[in-house]
Amino acid sequence: MTSQRTRERLISRLRESGIRNKRVLEVMLNTPRHIFIDEALGSRAYDDTALPIGFGQTISQPYIVARMTEILLETGACDKVLEIGTGSGYQTAVLAQLVGQVYSVERIGALLTKARRRIRTLNLYNVRMKNFDGHMGWRENGPYDVIIVTAAPEEIPAELFAQLKEGGRMIAPVGPNGKQQLNLITHTANGYECAVIEDVSFVPLLPGNR
Ligand code: SAH
Repeated sequence: MTSQRTRERLISRLRESGIRNKRVLEVMLNTPRHIFIDEALGSRAYDDTALPIGFGQTISQPYIVARMTEILLETGACDKVLEIGTGSGYQTAVLAQLVGQVYSVERIGALLTKARRRIRTLNLYNVRMKNFDGHMGWRENGPYDVIIVTAAPEEIPAELFAQLKEGGRMIAPVGPNGKQQLNLITHTANGYECAVIEDVSFVPLLPGNR
């Protein structure tokens, strides 16, 4: 179920879907996705699908984790990364193996507790996490080279723009349920440039924390 062959099948699938970045593929081959979901769903851990993680939330589809990560790696510096929506911690773990320092914010405390344990199990020491409303970012550690948002706002919160370095990139799904697009925003000397990557389906970015 969690055999090397099962994982290799997922990586082939990602390649077929257009993921080319060797470092991303390598890290995803070696990151045990089954520890990020409940045991009952273990047999589906290496399927290329989103899966429930409780509280109405989901672990992101491997394809979208790979796609967002490769875009960020290939567009500039990734020393300091802010993630909004830790969820299971899977995207966090993939990032931590490819960038300098990861700061991750999650509004549901119970999910964060589990994610923290998984990150520790994997001996990833360049991750800091906080139970907080991601609409506010994490100002104390900013500005960031990269902001990755893994839940969809209808509009990107202004505070996140303010925490992005010049030269920095923010990747975020934007729009209402069923009509979201993945946006790549680049902070240039002249302002913010936005490119639409593709249609996506994420859970909504919700207000407050609990
Ligand atoms: N990358 C994660 C995706 C989890 S789903 C994974 O692969 O597991 C998105 C997460 O964003 C959920 O855990 C949800 O609780 C969280 N979220 C939603 N609104 C938020 C907000 N305002 N601040 C922080 N996290 C938020």
